[in-house]
Amino acid sequence: MIHNPEIECMSREDMRALQSERLIKTVKRCYENVPFYKRKMDEMGVKPSDIKSIDDIHKLPFTTKTDLRDEYPFGLQAVPHSEVRRIHASSGTTGKPVVDTYTENDLKCWAEGVARCMAVADIGPGDTVQVSYGYGLFTGGLGAHDGAAMRGAVQLPTSAGNTEKQIMLMQDFGSNALACTPSYAMHIAEAIHASKVVSINKMKLRAGFFGAEPWTEGMRKEIEEKLQIKAYDIYGLTEMSGPGVGGECECQDGTHLWEDMFFPEIINPDTLEPCKPGEFGELVFTSLTKEAMPILRYRTRDLTRLIYEPCKCGRTAVRMDRILGRSDDMLIVRGVNVFPSAVEAILTEFPAFQPYYFITVDRVNNEDTFDVDIELKPEFFTQDLGEQMKYLKPLYERMVSVMGIKPNLHVRPPYGIERSMGKAKHVKDLRNFKG
Ligand code: ADP
Ligand code: ZN
Repeated sequence: MIHNPEIECMSREDMRALQSERLIKTVKRCYENVPFYKRKMDEMGVKPSDIKSIDDIHKLPFTTKTDLRDEYPFGLQAVPHSEVRRIHASSGTTGKPVVDTYTENDLKCWAEGVARCMAVADIGPGDTVQVSYGYGLFTGGLGAHDGAAMRGAVQLPTSAGNTEKQIMLMQDFGSNALACTPSYAMHIAEAIHASKVVSINKMKLRAGFFGAEPWTEGMRKEIEEKLQIKAYDIYGLTEMSGPGVGGECECQDGTHLWEDMFFPEIINPDTLEPCKPGEFGELVFTSLTKEAMPILRYRTRDLTRLIYEPCKCGRTAVRMDRILGRSDDMLIVRGVNVFPSAVEAILTEFPAFQPYYFITVDRVNNEDTFDVDIELKPEFFTQDLGEQMKYLKPLYERMVSVMGIKPNLHVRPPYGIERSMGKAKHVKDLRNFKG
């Protein structure tokens, strides 16, 4: 069902008008309250009065992750701290974390975004949503939690970890939906099938809301089969509140973006010019309802494209294609551009292999090396190298033809690759530690 039909199915014309009205307000709020934006706009010679509609958005400055770090912790806040009700921060592997702050209304809008994603699976009163995203500063846990609350569902805040207990509660409490990263969903599915205590046939799960990291169609199929559910993508980022910036509908044919709150653009990351409709490029968001920390034209570094054709579900909200990866995740190995998620896509084409992988890149004798650890499913596992070759040869050939690079493949024993309970780490680039 559709959580907010008035907005989600609004005519494109009315949506543009709403976006224009909200952009004008947001720009004024930024210019008047955030010295960073006043400085940036003054440098470009842009005044709030130059922004008359959403079509003027390209006149505005971009915001980057570096800007957010420079303004740490509250430099971009546009309200007095007395109006702030919550603070979140993204993990950020290096340097200072990225901070987001929320007013009462910001928390409501965020929950609304997540609620729209969950309504797709008819989540409502009587349904139990098991939230296995990490609770804490990370936006995943509390974001999914508040969305489930807005749908009137039972919130089961198990958080990430303690997988044995997770699956016991999932069965005993009759959880109807699971919210976590796709890697953790895969891990949970594996644990259920390996368990002697619980059984998927005794579970009431029917839907999963998976996001916070890139995942492939192949991974979706595995999770759907193993958990006997429909698995929906949910997308978001701390800078725009958190999860629930968009989500998949019943058609599972692109992720609808809630563009009344988060205005998306696709730009060419080299020229910073807008891409043509339908072209792949870097996703950029402007918050349209955020009060505490509104962000203008945030460069996500996520690579995807926008689909403006109407969706069969009846929602008019624009859709985005799967995220190819973040531009900063892209590896350049022997001059070839490699997105780690391509390995997952290929692995899931081969029934003998698990969707787990770990890439190690190094430089030996001035040449890049590209090693990929993989696992055979337990029922296919063998230590006989001749037997292994039977499975490895077609995989190797497929990787060379799709990715354009020759990998050194290493078959690890079952569970040899670390399972993730949050965002999976897939790459170690040892070249970074050499000159
Ligand atoms: P961090 O930057 O520390 O990972 P966030 O939790 O804010 O912190 O991460 C947001 C990023 O996670 C997005 O910019 C995107 O790269 C990734 N992401 C979130 N949801 C999805 C999704 N459904 N599919 C692919 N990538 C996603
Ligand atoms: Zn749709």
